[in-house]
Amino acid sequence: MAYDTLEIEHHGAVRRILLARDAQRNAQSQQMLDELMAAFDDAARDDTVNAVVLGGKGAHFSAGHDLKQAQAERANFTVEERWAYEELRYFDYSMRIWDFPKPTIAQVQGACVAGGFMIANMCDLVVAGESAFFSDPVGHTLGAAATEVLIHPWVMGARKAKEMLYTGGKLSAQEAQAIGMVNRVVPDAELADAALALAQQIAKAPPFGLRLIKRSINRTLDAQGLRTALAAHFDTHQLSHLSEGFLTARDRGLASAIQKNPASA
Ligand code: ZN
Repeated sequence: MAYDTLEIEHHGAVRRILLARDAQRNAQSQQMLDELMAAFDDAARDDTVNAVVLGGKGAHFSAGHDLKQAQAERANFTVEERWAYEELRYFDYSMRIWDFPKPTIAQVQGACVAGGFMIANMCDLVVAGESAFFSDPVGHTLGAAATEVLIHPWVMGARKAKEMLYTGGKLSAQEAQAIGMVNRVVPDAELADAALALAQQIAKAPPFGLRLIKRSINRTLDAQGLRTALAAHFDTHQLSHLSEGFLTARDRGLASAIQKNPASA
């Protein structure tokens, strides 16, 4: 299968899916999100694939959603239109990565921001290059309540999640590792090999056992309320799209948020 916005690599039992709009810092367009789901679906169906690596071509993993496209096509969405669009492409697609029936590894370098942070953290493990940094500045730049999937407290703890979302600041790869959000940090030049080697090590185990381990760990988090909390925040996030803060940002032009925070898009 060929994609316009992704590159797919086959490494034996490991499938590597690479976001491939590197000239746009892998900003996630509608097409990219639709293709990403198709690529995950294909990897789920393929019995020769036991693990998936999700990465990004170029200097950055992903700067977030494509706000130029958002401004051009969705700035004047009604409540119902935005709900439908974001529930499918942001919430459901993200949860499908979370629920993907095989182990997943995010391979992260450079910017991992907002919508980028969201999909990277839907993966089971995260391997980061030294250049990686994580942030979610939308409370400042878009005047809206964080990203659609509030995975932050689950992967970084409530204290750091509040700091990141309140300040719009960045977390380095080393800091992310220190708080347990990132599994390994390696030099950027070794990142692709390190993520692949980890995936290949995992892929040696019988797939059904891995699938059950993943289900049970995710179900542990569900028992703690993960899925309910994420669904509740999605609704809250939709409300914030009608707030004074968001409408002001929209009228200024959503894409200007990219200039306001050069790390995000
Ligand atoms: Zn939204």
